[in-house]
Amino acid sequence: MLRTRRVLAACAGLLLAVLAAACGKEGSPPVKGPKPEQLPVYKVDTAFRLPASPTWTKAKKRGYLRVGAKEDQPYLGEKDPATGIYSGFDIEIAKMMSASLGFDPKTIRFKTIASANRETALQNGQIDYYVGTYTINEMRKKLVGFAGPYYMAGQGLLVRTDEHDINGPQDLAGKTVCSAAGSTPYQRIAADYPKAILVAYDTYSICVDNLLTYQVDAVTTDDAILLGFAAKAPKEMKVVGKPFSQEPYGIGVPRSDNALRFALNDALEANEKNGNWKKAFEATLGLSGVPAPKPPPIDRYPAT
Ligand code: GLU
Repeated sequence: MLRTRRVLAACAGLLLAVLAAACGKEGSPPVKGPKPEQLPVYKVDTAFRLPASPTWTKAKKRGYLRVGAKEDQPYLGEKDPATGIYSGFDIEIAKMMSASLGFDPKTIRFKTIASANRETALQNGQIDYYVGTYTINEMRKKLVGFAGPYYMAGQGLLVRTDEHDINGPQDLAGKTVCSAAGSTPYQRIAADYPKAILVAYDTYSICVDNLLTYQVDAVTTDDAILLGFAAKAPKEMKVVGKPFSQEPYGIGVPRSDNALRFALNDALEANEKNGNWKKAFEATLGLSGVPAPKPPPIDRYPAT
């Protein structure tokens, strides 16, 4: 036990390295996610015009898109600390959208934005759109617009492999559970499982760090995110129980830019039909062990 703790503490001290190489143990998954040659190449629609969208018009003048994302979510949105390059399923979605809007995906400037800051970033015009495990819900729709959904996740729990008492949210009473501030999983635990001791950080990677050093008993967020962390360090962590919510992932846009939202919905549908969506999924999130599902129906709600 003591030895396990020491090993875990050593691993946690080098969390990024742990996630990358699981402390170099044999049979560990490779350091990086998708290999560039396995990813689809998205054809840039150079003739595309969207004068009705103020966001698109400004980006066209600027010459590139600014896209908000996550940088520490395995297989979804990861930033290589050495190169600054972002990769993952969310990043691929962002690139597909860029190509359809007439911008070469290579020119995208990604900006890392935490869960709690997404609405303000879109409202202040810091980014043109956001792709980062962003659940569509009615409360957020009052503040921002959503294209999609492009994926359906569900809330889950991540624990250490030596944990046997937590098998679902019903077991969280008196346990310390970590989530990201401003996230729907955080809000659900606060509302539905008040006996859990809830801790919030800006990111899930900090929560995972705390899990590995026995500061918290569980991490909660979407299964898609947790499976990625578990896949990178399978000897240390496991996802338990069944998903206990529905988290439809949307592309966040400024609320009043209906033209951009409609164009993104069309672009998403086209990429689902031409096979890009599936190829992108298999080369990214698919690596955490999830087979490519059928994408959820797009919610084309009327102009706001
Ligand atoms: N999908 C959830 C949310 O949008 C959790 C993941 C996240 O924080 O990005 O709140």
